This record gives sequence, structure tokens and C-alpha cells, in this order.
Amino acid sequence: MPDSVPQDDLLQRHRAVLPTWLSLYYAEPIEIVGGQGRRVTDSNGREYLDFFAGILTNAIGYDIGEISDAIRAQVDSGVLHTSTLYLIRKQVELAEKIAEVSGIPDAKVFFTNSGTEANETALLLATQYRKSDQVLALRNSYHGRTFAAMGITGNRGWSASSLSPLKVSYVHGGYRMRGPFAAYNDAEYIAACVEDLREILEVTTAGDVACMIAEPIQGVGGFNVPPDGLFGEMKKVLDEYGILFISDEVQTGWGRTGEHFWGIQAHGVVPDAMTFAKGLGNGLAIGGVVARGDLMDCLKANSISTFGGNPISTAGAKAALDYLLDKDLQANAAKLGSMLINGLRDVSAENPVVADVRGKGLMIGLELVGPDGRSPSPAAAARLLEETKARGLLVGKGGLHNNVVRLAPPLSLTEDEAEEGLAILSESITVVDKENKA
Ligand code: PMP
Repeated sequence: MPDSVPQDDLLQRHRAVLPTWLSLYYAEPIEIVGGQGRRVTDSNGREYLDFFAGILTNAIGYDIGEISDAIRAQVDSGVLHTSTLYLIRKQVELAEKIAEVSGIPDAKVFFTNSGTEANETALLLATQYRKSDQVLALRNSYHGRTFAAMGITGNRGWSASSLSPLKVSYVHGGYRMRGPFAAYNDAEYIAACVEDLREILEVTTAGDVACMIAEPIQGVGGFNVPPDGLFGEMKKVLDEYGILFISDEVQTGWGRTGEHFWGIQAHGVVPDAMTFAKGLGNGLAIGGVVARGDLMDCLKANSISTFGGNPISTAGAKAALDYLLDKDLQANAAKLGSMLINGLRDVSAENPVVADVRGKGLMIGLELVGPDGRSPSPAAAARLLEETKARGLLVGKGGLHNNVVRLAPPLSLTEDEAEEGLAILSESITVVDKENKA
């Protein structure tokens, strides 16, 4: 860990030259300058236990020997990148591994530099394959920040443009708690979502749709966990029309949900394509699409990404993927996730400011409400972020109303660290609950 580094006016400089819509956490934003395992250090020398992992990018942890060594070896070769016009051994090896673990038959992989580009690629493939520019997405979804990705983002806080290059219809199945089907049990909820999908296809789109894209658990939308099997039932309807199904696994992939390697597996679905990013690189910029071979190969023109799948990102990502598979971090996510969810449910029973504790594995959301026990409270979520930070814990925020605190620690979290985080959360929630009543 580095020693404290001198403070300057970095925040003012940030505000002067970076856009206003590039928002920062905390009344006093922090600059992270070091990390090891599950802990990071800021430029004031303060250490934090990281329960957000940079929005799930540090899926494994900071400065993990095997992964850092693989990156260093590539740096030492003198070639960070030349071009994807040449053969790149690690790119091929990583693609082979991802194709193997994808569960998609005859899978092929294309690498990008981000989740957004991965979704752009999947949309390009699906619309070309089906010769349709109609797409279905979930209400309250988040799929990225380019024109098309924003165009299929159904969360108003993250979709600055309503001008979409695609024709998009939004269906139910994402954020259940405050939707019109909230009172239904799981079976009724699934039936209602399927009926909604059918109606959209029959009434609005005439069935001429390229694909449906869904996050198996909405990430930015507030870690919303749909009932298992929902997307399987929806896919049966899509299959009647030949509509492709794309699972956006940018947050739910790589074992994060504990019980499965990919979030969509909880629904008994083998998608036509999955998109991924974030955790794969354990901090490096890498994303991609894994798709059925015939879908991947449907483009009839050249298309390369200058940096997608470059030697350094694929070397790091291959080492990260090997590490998480070797150490079975998925099982760790399942075990410590249950422990945290159970502990947090006990805390929420005593503190009504937390109206809902939901999640799977190490992807856990706390929905914060006002004194009436129901209305969304973004203020309480913001306070909880400050209280946890003051006690040395970093957590995330999200949700349609910005009132969900999101927990997504690195998958290598230890039991002691889980206990430590839970204790800090418990104390902080108690403070915010008391304020909420005052
Ligand atoms: N899809 C999902 C589900 C995401 O959570 C995100 C990022 N928050 C993206 C796509 C976009 O990824 P990126 O920021 O790497 O472009």
C-alpha cells in the first residue's frame, strides 16, 4: 500500500474539465491510489474494505499475484498491442475458454473494450441476422452509454436520449417491487410478464422483432432479482416467433450470483448470445460477446476492433478467469452471499429504513425507504453511503429512484471480511434508521 500522497485541488480540476454528468460518489469524493486483496487506500492514506469492487470490475480483488504476473509478463515482452490483424495467442485461448464455459453450442467469441460495445455488437448481430430493427428490452434496464445501448436502456436516470437508432419496446420483468404486478406471487408474476410480452408482440410489433435483451438481475436498476424461470417462460414465447434472446451478463457473469456461473442459468435458458465485460478483466478494459456460431458469423463485411482482445487485456483476463475457476470463487460467492443476505435481513427486521434485502451470491441490494415505510428514499441511501465510508467500507448505489444500496464485493472475499462488512453495515443502517424516524 502506498503512503499518503499530497492532496491537491483534484476535485475542482475534475469539475472544470470533465462533464457534469460524470457523477462522483460522496460529499467528499475519494481518490483511490492503492489496493490489495479486498482493500483499497485513498490519497489521504485511509484504508477501506471494498464492497463494490469498482462497480464489479475488480471481480477477484486487487493485486492478485497470478493475475498481476500475467499482465507484467506481457508488459515485459515490450508489446502492449500492435493490432488485432495479427494472431494473438491469449485472445484465442481466452475465447476457447469462454466458449467452453458459455454453454452455448458451437459458440464463437468477439472481444470489445467495454460492456457497451459488447451490447452494440450483439444488437448488430441480432438485427442483421433477423433483418429487423425492432428490439425488446426490460423496463428499468441499463445496457450502456452509446447511442444504441442508451436507446435500449429503460431507466430514465441513465438514458439521456430518447432518440434511438432502433425501434424499442419495453416489457415487464425487471423491477418488480414497485411495478403493477408487485402483489403477485412468483407464478402469477411470471404469467403476467409472459402475457405482457405476448401482447407487445401481437399488438405493437406484429412479431417482427430481432431480439430481446435482458439483464438476468438488473444491475444499475437496483439488483432486482426476478423469480427463477421467468426468462425461460418468456423465451418460449420468443421461440414461437424466432426472436433471438441476448443475456446481458456484464454484472451477473463469472459466478457472481453464486448458484450459477451465468445469471441466466437460473432461468433454464441457453441464450443465443451473452454479453460480458467488467469482472472478466479484473480491472482491465475488456468486454465481448459469446454467441451461436451462425449468429456470430452472419455479418457479411469486415469488422475489427482495434483494441478489442488486445494482448495485455486478454493475458490479464485469461489469468483472471483461470484463477476464479481454479479457486471456485463461485462457491465462495454462494456461501458468503447467503451469510450476508441472512445477516442483512436480520438487520432490516430491526431497521425499517431498509424495506427490502434482495440478491443472489455477492450481488446484494438494500432498498431504502422513508418514514412511511414505502416511499423511495434516495436521501437515506446517500446517508448510508456516507456512514459506511466513515467506518471504512465502500458500497454502491443504484435503482430507478437512486434509493438502493448495492453490495458487490470481490468474489475472493473472506469470511472475516464478510463479518467485518456486515458489522459496519449494521451500525451504519442503525444510524440512518434513527435519522429516518427523527
Ligand atoms: N450492461 C450492464 C448490465 C452494465 O451494468 C453496464 C455497466 N454498468 C454496461 C452494460 C455497460 O458497460 P460499460 O460501462 O463497460 O460500457
